[in-house]
Amino acid sequence: METVRFDELELDERILRAVTDMGFEAASPIQAQAIPVQMEGRDVVGQAQTGTGKTAAFGIPLLQKIDPESKKLQAVALCPTRELAIQVAEEIRRLAKYMHGIKVLPIYGGQDIVRQIRGLKDGTQIVIGTPGRVMDHMRRKTIRCDYVRTVIMDEADEMLNMGFLEDMETILSQMPEERQTVMFSATMPHEIQDIAKRFQKEPVTVKVVKKELTVPKVTQYYYEVKPKTKVEVMCRLLDMYAPKLSIAFCNTKKKVDELVQDLQGRGYFAEGLHGDLKQMQRDRVMNSFRSGTTEILVATDVAARGIDVDNVEAVFNYDIPQDDEYYVHRIGRTGRAGKDGIAFSLVVGKEVYKLRDIQRYCKTKIIPQAIPSLDDITTIKAEKVMEQVMDLIHDTDLTKMVNLIEKAVLAEEECTSLDVAAALLKLAMGEENEDIIDSGRPARSLDDLDRYGRDGGRGRGRDRDGRGGRGGRYGRDGRYDREEREDMARLFVNIGKSQNIRPGDILGAVAGETGISGKLVGSIDMYDNYTFVEVPREYADGVLRAMKDVKIKGKNVHVEKANGKGR
Ligand code: AMP
Repeated sequence: METVRFDELELDERILRAVTDMGFEAASPIQAQAIPVQMEGRDVVGQAQTGTGKTAAFGIPLLQKIDPESKKLQAVALCPTRELAIQVAEEIRRLAKYMHGIKVLPIYGGQDIVRQIRGLKDGTQIVIGTPGRVMDHMRRKTIRCDYVRTVIMDEADEMLNMGFLEDMETILSQMPEERQTVMFSATMPHEIQDIAKRFQKEPVTVKVVKKELTVPKVTQYYYEVKPKTKVEVMCRLLDMYAPKLSIAFCNTKKKVDELVQDLQGRGYFAEGLHGDLKQMQRDRVMNSFRSGTTEILVATDVAARGIDVDNVEAVFNYDIPQDDEYYVHRIGRTGRAGKDGIAFSLVVGKEVYKLRDIQRYCKTKIIPQAIPSLDDITTIKAEKVMEQVMDLIHDTDLTKMVNLIEKAVLAEEECTSLDVAAALLKLAMGEENEDIIDSGRPARSLDDLDRYGRDGGRGRGRDRDGRGGRGGRYGRDGRYDREEREDMARLFVNIGKSQNIRPGDILGAVAGETGISGKLVGSIDMYDNYTFVEVPREYADGVLRAMKDVKIKGKNVHVEKANGKGR
């Protein structure tokens, strides 16, 4: 597994700085292959799915080519859904952080077209849009493509599934002849191959070639978690399984630092390992881990390479790895020297598809599990305390304590020695908190995702209205997903971080205006200028009505159903 550093890719220094800020340690495998080819100006067909770093794989070479001095539209990226368009625009903005004068605009259906037109007039060089709305603007001539030199199709197979084939063809046929056309797709159905043939010039196909992988015999579990509860879930697993030594893997240096801080804050003996550490610091961390003083080593894939510690009992994929091979390397850190090992993967939302692919390519079994409830943890903690208590009873003289308890029980009429024992147990176990996690429900089986997942839903996408329902990236074609999410509706709010809004403000507004308990509100995904919030489906219309003329932090807001398709 060869590592390609970003500073080996001859990138614009400003992009390199942004990538460093984002905490990326090395280029992901798809980036290592796709970025140089695109920088040569070649057309590319990239076979990669979400979670592999594909957005930066086309975003970085795209930015390299943009001239910030020119205010003409220079690049168009097409995405299947509004949500993806927003995510891609955000990632490209992060990459363009130090390239002043670059404007990236996501455009999609459902948003006020006049506002979009104003945005487009304002010197936008990069448009990230859903095909229907992009075509609309092309027709109105509010998008002019004369200076477009790069066209990207992201998740091309998804656009096909959603019935955007004709729109894609129309858009491509109206683009200037002299352009670079880059297509990313998780699968390569013949319609997509056909588009490549007709609209690309001798495209280079890039995909990560799968090696024959020998998967170590390690028990592998996975859990579906919310971003906000990841640390808590990891701590519960640590408490439940109590591994003596474990390694937790994160995808970025930044995440390593954050997780170490979170774990240390909760009293765990954790230390981080990544490329920013000096050799001396690395040695100190590794010595501390080998001696068992540090129980949890938090590391990036690159930093963990070459570590040789035999008695690691558990591996945590705190972030799902960007490549199948990383997964195999990671879990191979445990279960060595004939000992049992266990690997836990924490999956957020769509990452479940990445894990499904890993399971498929590695021909392994990753078993879905329910997040342990606080009651489970309490039981286990109690068992541990009781073990220590039993040891004390067997090994020490407790006469003095027995006398003290006897005295206390005699003095208190309504208290038995059993009550005293129970109270002492409670004291020993510390405070109990309210269970904020929807524990007890197992994660979905990755095999069921195979049946109902991404590849299975083709054809249904011809519903071009796309209104209503979640519709989006991962729920759209998974019947299983639909059942799972049937109870929640996703709403779109037109403000975000840039307006100094925090998730708590959105939660407060929804709960305050509608009277529904904050606990019922699902995930709140906040971007710079938008927020997606999940509410129970039965309350959705009520929430929409109640939020009609609401202000949040003095700003008028508009809330609507988040239709995934964005026409
Ligand atoms: P994508 O496959 O584009 O959806 O990316 C998934 C996530 O990986 C995003 O949060 C990216 O910011 C992140 N990412 C992209 N490239 C890298 C990298 N080289 N190292 C670590 N994280 C990355």
